Amino acid sequence: MILCINETAYQSSWAVSEAAATESQTESLEASVLELFDRLGLRTTRPRRLIAARVARAGASGREFAVEDLWKELLDLDPGIGRATVFRSVDLLVREGLLDRVPTGNGRHRYRACGPHHHHHVTCTTCRRVVEIDQCLSPALLERVASATDFAIEGHSLELFGRCPVCRKGGRA
Ligand SMILES: [Zn+2]
Ligand SMILES: [Zn+2]
Ligand SMILES: [Zn+2]
Repeated sequence: MILCINETAYQSSWAVSEAAATESQTESLEASVLELFDRLGLRTTRPRRLIAARVARAGASGREFAVEDLWKELLDLDPGIGRATVFRSVDLLVREGLLDRVPTGNGRHRYRACGPHHHHHVTCTTCRRVVEIDQCLSPALLERVASATDFAIEGHSLELFGRCPVCRKGGRA
């Protein structure tokens, strides 16, 4: 099998909780988001500060999120925050590479602040949790595709789907 998920790595990244996110990780992510807004000439409004803080907290804890849920969470903090502001900001963060947009297999997407290195995702089809994986297609497979199609392969994308350990055990719904 070309792609195999290291079960130990999978379990441990699964276990990363929001509490485990270090303050410094959160702060540096938050600073990157604010710097980006600034670089793009966007004013640092309260909604944008709140978005930066929430996205940084989720990112530092390895937690993926749905943009609709992010907007609802932010509404608790600022009832005036516009849906379009949140959606546009998240799109911007994806375009600028601070967030990955991960298809969840049901026509929807979740967002995750991943590492800067080349990686893929495995998404739970039950709870939609997204885990970052650093396994990739083997060079041998890419060579076989290149010779079968006579293409010079320049890149790839790959999303994996499955059921996470918690859902397999019939735990959390
Ligand atoms: Zn990612
Ligand atoms: Zn699951
Ligand atoms: Zn790859």
